[in-house]
Amino acid sequence: MQDQQLTCKDCGAPFTFTVGEQEFYQSRGFTNQPTRCPQCRAKKKTEMRGGGGNDRHHSGPRPSFEITCSECGKMDTVPFEPREGRPVLCRDCFQKQKQSDRPESFSNRE
Ligand SMILES: [Zn+2]
Ligand SMILES: [Zn+2]
Repeated sequence: MQDQQLTCKDCGAPFTFTVGEQEFYQSRGFTNQPTRCPQCRAKKKTEMRGGGGNDRHHSGPRPSFEITCSECGKMDTVPFEPREGRPVLCRDCFQKQKQSDRPESFSNRE
């Protein structure tokens, strides 16, 4: 066995795949040569450990609260907690109301 000169796949820098490393690879049962220089390998490792990462734990099911529409009396659910003493509208009535009292600024924008 002898040292091998390899080229890093990531940064293109030449690096040495030493006999020691080759033996280590073989002992682990790896058949492939390393494709990255030691620096890039180390970088990759720290990236894998994940600074930031995208954890999706926050996107749970939306809360829904049962309401009785104060407009039409229909039962419905809303994604927010209804305030006591305040009129709550079902989805239909809410949409209707939204459409009927639109602010002026929205209507004249062509
Ligand atoms: Zn590299
Ligand atoms: Zn309604």
